[in-house]
Parts: sequence; C-alpha cells; structure tokens
Amino acid sequence: MKTMIRGLTALAVTLGLAAPALAQDKGTIGIAMPTKSSARWISDGESMVEQFEAAGYETDLQYAEDDIPNQLAQIENMITKEVDALVIAAIDGTTLSNALANAAALDIPVIAYDRLIRDSGDVDYYATFDNFQVGVLQANSLVDGLEERFPDVETWNVELFGGSPDDNNAYFFYDGAMSVLQPLIDEGRIEIKSGQSGMDTVGTLRWDGAVAQSRMDNLLSAHYTDDQVHGVLSPYDGLSIGILSSLKGVGYGSGDTPMPIVTGQDAEVPSVKSILAGEQYSTVYKDTRELARVTVGMVEALLEGGEPEINDTETYDNGVKVVPSYLLEPQSVDGSNWEERLVDTGYYSADEIQ
Ligand code: BGC
Repeated sequence: MKTMIRGLTALAVTLGLAAPALAQDKGTIGIAMPTKSSARWISDGESMVEQFEAAGYETDLQYAEDDIPNQLAQIENMITKEVDALVIAAIDGTTLSNALANAAALDIPVIAYDRLIRDSGDVDYYATFDNFQVGVLQANSLVDGLEERFPDVETWNVELFGGSPDDNNAYFFYDGAMSVLQPLIDEGRIEIKSGQSGMDTVGTLRWDGAVAQSRMDNLLSAHYTDDQVHGVLSPYDGLSIGILSSLKGVGYGSGDTPMPIVTGQDAEVPSVKSILAGEQYSTVYKDTRELARVTVGMVEALLEGGEPEINDTETYDNGVKVVPSYLLEPQSVDGSNWEERLVDTGYYSADEIQ
C-alpha cells in the first residue's frame, strides 16, 4: 500500500498534476497488543488506530491472545514488511531482544507501550502510567475501605495478589502497594494469615482470572474456615472478578458476612458494575485515550525529526538501558467518584455501566 501511494504520488507529479489528496501517506505503524480478552487493550488499539490515522499514518494492529510465540511472529512479520515504527505492549517483556535488533538494523524506532520491554538496547521510548503510583492508589483505597467497612476490627485479615511475573509492571504495582501496606503489617494493623507475600509467591501468570479464583479458593479453605478475610489486594479487574466469585461462593457478601474490600485496575465495565453493586470496592482508571495520544506524539516526533516529549529519565531501567519515558497519572475510582471520573470524562456513557 505504501509503495502504491508513493507510486501514485510520483505519477501525479510526472503528469504535472497536483499530488492526490491522500490522507494516509506518512507511513505504516505496526501496533502489537497482547490480548483481546481484556477490554482495556481493545480500547488502546482502537484509540491508537484512530489517532494515527487522523495524523496521516496507516496502521497494522495485531493481537496475540497472550501467546508469546504468536506475538513474536507478528512483530517479526511487521519488521519484514518494513513498517515505519513499532508500538509494542509485550506479553513477556523479556523475549523480544532478537526481533528488536532486526528492527534497529532497519532503523525502525520502537516504543514500549504501557509495559516495559526488558533486556534490549533497541527500545527507544516508553509510554506508560506511573505504575508505582497505581499500586499506592490500590493500597490506599484498600485501607480506606477497611476503615469504612470494618472500623472496629483491631487486626484486618488481608490477602495479596500480584500480576503476571513476566510483566515488568506487576513488580511496580506490587512494590507501590507494599510501600503502603508493609508499615501496617509491621505494626500489626494488618495480618496476612496465609503468610504468602512477595511477587514470586503471589504473582498470577498471564493475569489469568481463573488462576486467581482458584488461588483464592485455596486460601479460603486453608486459612479462613474460622476467621474472616477483610480485604484482598488485587492488581487488575480481571483478577478481582475471579476473587469475588470465590468469595461469593463461600457466602461472603450475604447474610451477616460482609464482602471483603477488593481492589482492581483498568476500570473495566464488569468491574465498574460490580462497584455499583457493592461488590468490588475500587479500581484504578487509566485513560487509554491519553496513553495513545502520548504514543502517537512520540512516533510523530521520531519520524519527523523532532524530540519526543518525556517526563522521566530515571525509573525504567530495562536491564540494558534506562528507557526515556512519559508517565501519565492514574486515578482511583470507587463508588463515590465513578461518575465524575468515568462518565463526565466521556470514557464511558452512563448507559454502558448502568
Ligand atoms: C497493565 C494493566 C493491566 C494488566 C493486565 C498491565 O501491564 O498496565 O493496566 O491491568 O497489564 O492486562
């Protein structure tokens, strides 16, 4: 297509005609997204396609259904087709080094999207949210919820869940949350009855809700037959839904057993509905339209000889280099502010969540 457009333009020039008014003649951007199983990545893809096209680029958007070799093949294919830039939200942030070396050899710039790509010097920029702050927001909201729902409980029983250990973000979320929770654990205000903590113990491979549900089942049957659990740190809405099913399965949220405070992330529709129904307590809203805007701006700057806008040059060391980054601000959403944060901003229509 790129060649055809260039050909048409050249033909028009040769014939002495004004160059045809083609909206899309600035090149093709390869966009590799992890999965369609979570609505946030669908929104990310749609926002980028829309914004790249408005800026005059074509796009090649691919989803890999959380399959690492599949995503690698998609990226290799984009490189073979010589796309003009690559935007990648990696499934496993450590498996792309060889492919990216090939991209670099062809001068194809690479933007890590939302998730850091590790172990490669060929990542040019990183567009993301303040991932440590996501964890801080989750833990602050967990503690606010515990104070609100269980004000008279002396020691809150809390269990911890982490994200996928092959996703660099998962460690930032966990560390951010523990920066708030660890002092409370140390002073005995919070107890982890299972004793399970640390990403290598509480991580949830591929962010899989079914895995979280069965781990919650096990935690409940091993540690909570006599005691009540008051809170669960969950780093992602898809896990929260699984955790809530497990809790409901043994009677939490009915009779005189209150639902524990369960956090989340991404403000996905089922979780916002769950918040409105008084089940999930909170989530973290990350405006994917903004992330797309920052990314499109970075790519345009790179392809048009400008300087991409960044606001962080220290945090994201990928093992080979500190990747210059732009961090957006995440926001906490709960029953008190969902309308203002999600509807008034146009992220969702009121109909979508009611
Ligand atoms: C993203 C989160 C998302 C998670 C699961 C992370 O890398 O930053 O927004 O909840 O992946 O898809």
